[in-house]
Amino acid sequence: MRQETKCIEGGYTPKNGESRMIPIYQSTTFKYDTSEDMGKLFDLEASGYFYTRLQNPTNDLVAAKITELEGGTAGMLTSSGQAANFYAVFNLANAGDHVVAFSSIYGGTFNLFNVTMRKMGIDFTFVEPDCTAEELEAAFKPNTKCVFGETIANPALAVFDIEAVANIAHKHGVPLIIDNTFATPINCRPFEWGADIVTHSTTKYMDGHDATVGGAIIDSGKFDWMAHADKFPGLCTPDDSYHGITYAEKFGKEGAFITKATAQLMRDFGSIPSPMNCFMLNLGLESLALRMKRHCENAQKVAEYLSAHPQVAYVTYPGLPGDKYYERAQKYLPNGSCGVISFGVKGGRKAAEEMMKHLKLAIIATHVADAHTCVLHPASATHRQLTDEELTACGVLPDMIRFSVGIENVDDIIEDLDQAFKACK
Ligand SMILES: *Cc1c(COP(=O)(O)O)cnc(C)c1O
Repeated sequence: MRQETKCIEGGYTPKNGESRMIPIYQSTTFKYDTSEDMGKLFDLEASGYFYTRLQNPTNDLVAAKITELEGGTAGMLTSSGQAANFYAVFNLANAGDHVVAFSSIYGGTFNLFNVTMRKMGIDFTFVEPDCTAEELEAAFKPNTKCVFGETIANPALAVFDIEAVANIAHKHGVPLIIDNTFATPINCRPFEWGADIVTHSTTKYMDGHDATVGGAIIDSGKFDWMAHADKFPGLCTPDDSYHGITYAEKFGKEGAFITKATAQLMRDFGSIPSPMNCFMLNLGLESLALRMKRHCENAQKVAEYLSAHPQVAYVTYPGLPGDKYYERAQKYLPNGSCGVISFGVKGGRKAAEEMMKHLKLAIIATHVADAHTCVLHPASATHRQLTDEELTACGVLPDMIRFSVGIENVDDIIEDLDQAFKACK
């Protein structure tokens, strides 16, 4: 199946007489005939459902669709993108371990790593999005457990060199985790370039309608944990909290990572999305391919309009020839990048805030990447907690506006920008 078809048909094929839509198992619990049947589930001897804090059939059908879209072997949904990134990293790195992360990542993820996970005893080295191979190599330590980056960084819009970084990560015996939220598997499939684990904030394009917060983790099934058993004891030695199961042995390369994340992290932290929210996410997924195409077409036109505007200081959009990441986007994102543009208004931070006040169609919202056009000043909103130094490291300039182009008629979006620029002349 091609990507457009997987968006509709992936993950679930109804049998004779079954519901066409994914059924909503709005149930916390599941019934068994004998305690023995139940015991097998607890021992991970049989697969099945017993309690929705760990797993739910509706959730798994939707996770299966995203797994097919990404070309992975196993996947799980989480209650938010934050939970997905936390689980993906914490499934590999524990107290005393170290992670290499790119500094251009989403502000929430940066804070999760740099503040909260440091409190858990995990050490992070942040590297610049355009660091050289030597600089990246120098960031590795003997206790490094993974490398983390975003396909298209939110909001810096730096395009990640997945193939090059994956090669370096593998040379050091660790997997590359890619947050593919902005590109979605419609525009980029990181596994094809060597990434090992993909995460998503499904809150963005996948849901697409400002309706549900959620996240996903997908495993490529390619990383050979056993070949680096000394680095990954959590996957390669018996888990005492599961009667001595060794995940990498019992579930192989294809299933070990997600089984461990479900059995340990979902069990203990419980960041499970509700089946109803997963159902809604699935509705979003059905039109993902159509919407991404429209987002990219609209954003291309808006980026071209902005770059020709005399009141605009600069425009960042990977689809614009001349953009710092244009060449790389041609390689990794040949069908389009995303609907998000950043730009600066001449006159700096004050002028940017003034211009935003006059926008009518584009609403000011702490959100991005969905059907409605929206706009945000990151330095005074999502990235408010960061110092100027940290802002620069994330690629966020103080005067930068993040403009998320929706799927409305593009002429209306451009007219809205036009009247706002005129109003602050
Ligand atoms: C929004 C976002 C997150 C966090 O996701 P939530 O669903 O808001 O928890 C993580 N990564 C990226 C790239 C994001 O845009």
